Amino acid sequence: TQWVYGFGGGSADGDASMKNLLGGKGANLAEMSALGLPVPPGFTITTEVCTHYYANGETYPADLEDQVKAALAKVEAVVGKTFGDVENPLLVSVRSGARASMPGMMDTVLNLGLNDQTVEGLAKLSGDRRFAFDSYRRFITMYSNVVLGLSHDDFEEVLDAHKDRLGVSVDTDLKAEDWERIVVDYKSVVERELGHPFPQDPRDQMWGAVGAVFASWMNERAKFYRRMHDIPESWGTAVSVQSMVFGNMGETSATGVAFTRNPSTGEARLYGEFLINAQGEDVVAGIRTPQSLTKIGREEMGETAPSMEEAMPEVFGQFVTVVNTLESHYRDMQDIEFTVEQGRLWMLQTRNGKRTAKSALKVAVDLAAEGVITQEEAISRVEPSALDQLLHPTLDPDAARTVVAAGLPASPGAATGKIVFDADEAERLAGLGEAVILVREETSPEDIHGMHAARGIITARGGMTSHAAVVARGMGRACVSGAGEIHIDEAKGVFTARGRSFKAGEIITIDGSKGEVLDGAVPMIEPELTGDFQTLMGWADKVRRLKVRANAETPLDAKTARGFGAEGIGLCRTEHMFFDDTRIAAVREMILADDEAGRRTALAKIAPFQKSDFVELFEIMAGLPVTVRLLDPPLHEFIPHTDEDIDALAASSGIDAEKLKRRAKELHETNPMLGHRGCRLGVAYPEIYEMQVRAVLEAALEVKQTSGLAPIPEIMHPLVALGLEMKYLRELTDRTAKAVFADAGDSVEYLVGTMIELPRAAIRAGDLAEYAQFFSFGTNDLTQTTFGISRDDSGRFLQAYLDKGIFETDPFVRLDQDGVGGLIEIAAERGRAVRPEVKLGICGEHGGDPSSIAFCEKAGLDYVSCSPYRVPIARLAAAQAAL
Ligand code: PEP
Ligand code: MG
Repeated sequence: TQWVYGFGGGSADGDASMKNLLGGKGANLAEMSALGLPVPPGFTITTEVCTHYYANGETYPADLEDQVKAALAKVEAVVGKTFGDVENPLLVSVRSGARASMPGMMDTVLNLGLNDQTVEGLAKLSGDRRFAFDSYRRFITMYSNVVLGLSHDDFEEVLDAHKDRLGVSVDTDLKAEDWERIVVDYKSVVERELGHPFPQDPRDQMWGAVGAVFASWMNERAKFYRRMHDIPESWGTAVSVQSMVFGNMGETSATGVAFTRNPSTGEARLYGEFLINAQGEDVVAGIRTPQSLTKIGREEMGETAPSMEEAMPEVFGQFVTVVNTLESHYRDMQDIEFTVEQGRLWMLQTRNGKRTAKSALKVAVDLAAEGVITQEEAISRVEPSALDQLLHPTLDPDAARTVVAAGLPASPGAATGKIVFDADEAERLAGLGEAVILVREETSPEDIHGMHAARGIITARGGMTSHAAVVARGMGRACVSGAGEIHIDEAKGVFTARGRSFKAGEIITIDGSKGEVLDGAVPMIEPELTGDFQTLMGWADKVRRLKVRANAETPLDAKTARGFGAEGIGLCRTEHMFFDDTRIAAVREMILADDEAGRRTALAKIAPFQKSDFVELFEIMAGLPVTVRLLDPPLHEFIPHTDEDIDALAASSGIDAEKLKRRAKELHETNPMLGHRGCRLGVAYPEIYEMQVRAVLEAALEVKQTSGLAPIPEIMHPLVALGLEMKYLRELTDRTAKAVFADAGDSVEYLVGTMIELPRAAIRAGDLAEYAQFFSFGTNDLTQTTFGISRDDSGRFLQAYLDKGIFETDPFVRLDQDGVGGLIEIAAERGRAVRPEVKLGICGEHGGDPSSIAFCEKAGLDYVSCSPYRVPIARLAAAQAAL
């Protein structure tokens, strides 16, 4: 087996298509080398070694060592330096690189190969003793932290003590001999903490670092990141070992990151930051605030320090050429890391850049307009769930705002919440349903769970490509970074800015698009969907086959849904129309009535508002199908439980309170989800469903007469299990319709159908199709009844199943395609065998989940129905599924 793939010197063993084996970073380094771009030579140890490592008690394949030796020898030949050589040492970086990019989640070691002898060689070669010892101490710190497990703080203490002793405040004031003494003390720290010296053999160092990268695949933050992004553990990571180039060799050296287009807005212009005389991690870690790459970028940010374009125009020109080559080669916006070593440009990494939804839309639409990609490709470039970011409110531009501090507009969007200084605390409070804003000096990968839990993130330090900025954009969280006016006192739980102080728990608002932190809660307005959004959605609508409807019962939801492009209503839950105070009293009276006469009295009170509600809904949905689901209350939700409620009901209905109490007790169920709900109610008390059918059809007739455009009611019976049940319900519906039409002397088109929510209904779908004109898969209940897991209570044990990998995802969120999906396939097939034209849809929560929508496409359903805010997501997901 080939475990190691070399690159550099104008050629490579691998290419960009080999991400699974070489990881994203390794594959793209190979591709860039083969393109003839300046890439420091190196080699990649494959993800298969990672898999082997974990499958074999953390050991390597037998022939790995020989392959690494051979690859290293090639690198030495190209670079003209030798690993461990005292005169002319080769130094390397060791980095992780998984198939999917996991920014900052795993570990990196730079300057590897330095020891007490090679540092002298580096000093001679570079002619800069200070640089050599600065590099050595950086290496000791990084290696000790990543590989040996020591804390950064141990080394910071030593450094601070030396600075105090020398009376200097910044690192740049330390001289060569100072760094030499610091290195001696750093080595003592290692010896003191671990009882053995810092490893001097470069080969030991390298294997130590390789092992640490593989181990970092299983660290807590990497696991969390994988869970959040659905990255399987089995993928493993590759390790890239690459010859070092130095951005910290003086004023003609620099290091930076660039995006070929703006990752926040999508604007088609080179965008990024760099630092002169700095090493790569300095930019990303947000320790120094970097400068803009371009002159125009610098002017926009109001910076005084020169941009790269101005400071090193020649290298910048070369860089622009390389960057353009990369974008047209990969046909997508690139996120690039580079270093300039004494005036010479080196490319360290390129990958498709992470971006906000807004940027994703603009980049996709622009690239299609530029003819770089097709419309179909543009559709597939936007993550459907990311659209969610665009559909939420933004700050009202006319609202009064008190700016507390200003920083960089790192990730757009608005968020209001309580100030929290700690990631764990952010997670805890968010778990209690609180909106929080995480405020940090800077963030590190350890904070990722807190960033996820927070509505927004503020950092006092760091640039537009700092960890906080990159991660926030990827997560769709609003972020202001580098708000230098903010001074955080974590111990006291306060920050101060512009002379004011803010305690943990106080409310602030952030405007991630402007980079401002605002006092208190600022009013928000509904978003305007941009031209790019409409354009891409238009393209999506052309290619999708599945129709998209909404689950809605209020006029507001129905209007929102239509605004988002819903093509009808797929689920109107009639019990939800009864929740307001006057209505619920009548419904309670009906449910608690102990005979038909009592029920009819109550029904007579319900019928008028039931009908007028439908009229409103149908007017909004004129001409479109509206699936009205007849009453499906878990009865207990409607039964008054407290004496107070019962007394109130007694007063409003005129029924004796004692009688109501007795009736409530009689109706009590041990297992309400398996109880007297769904169509069982309609079978036991047909007058209820008759009233509802009448209200639906009378309302449809009224809308037809007033607007000329009738909706198409689809009357849906819930929780049906049996063919004879469906027969009974169909007859009830048609009989009522006939009476309504006779009374009105007019008629409308309507359908009668069923939900499929029970395994028996799926398996005997042929029986149901004899009478049902459509099926709508109620996958909330179907998941509940297939697994026998309560949709209301499963939270208590589900986490254990997720943690142990028994469930990969929550089956109530993402359809269990094998089990529940299997039943859907059976039902579709058996239903169609009996009634070929039977209309098929889904209206459980899964109807808005992109992967479940892909399943619905494959299963040949006719439509999906989801909550209004998911309609655009579903339109795009349906288009992607059809491609
Ligand atoms: C379902 O069960 O999937 C469904 C849509 O109905 P409800 O959620 O109202 O039970
Ligand atoms: Mg249901």
